[in-house]
Amino acid sequence: MHELSIAQSIVDLAVSEARKHPALAIKTIKIRLGEFTSVVREALELAFDAVALGTLAAAATLEIEVVPLATQCFNCRLSFCPAQGFCFLCTRCGAPVEIVAGTEMQVEYIELFDRQEVS
Ligand SMILES: [Zn+2]
Repeated sequence: MHELSIAQSIVDLAVSEARKHPALAIKTIKIRLGEFTSVVREALELAFDAVALGTLAAAATLEIEVVPLATQCFNCRLSFCPAQGFCFLCTRCGAPVEIVAGTEMQVEYIELFDRQEVS
């Protein structure tokens, strides 16, 4: 289940960032998840909860922004979002297209909060 290793790397990244600020714990982790990845959102959320237990990210909210698939034609540079069925040919000239968005899995930001705020 590769969502588990992705969740682990998200938590590792967030925790190492939070450690630079000793008084802080992690409040929110915002990630951008491409629609055209093999990551299952629900599985990632479950894996995140499991991995975050007992870490500075234990109370953190994982916010997932799903990035729609977008392609651009190699030939005429037309940019479009394939409506359905992931057809990788240009709708204008029929040439192959490259994927320009929708495959990302990146942490966009991490929000920290002061531990004093929680009792
Ligand atoms: Zn084209």
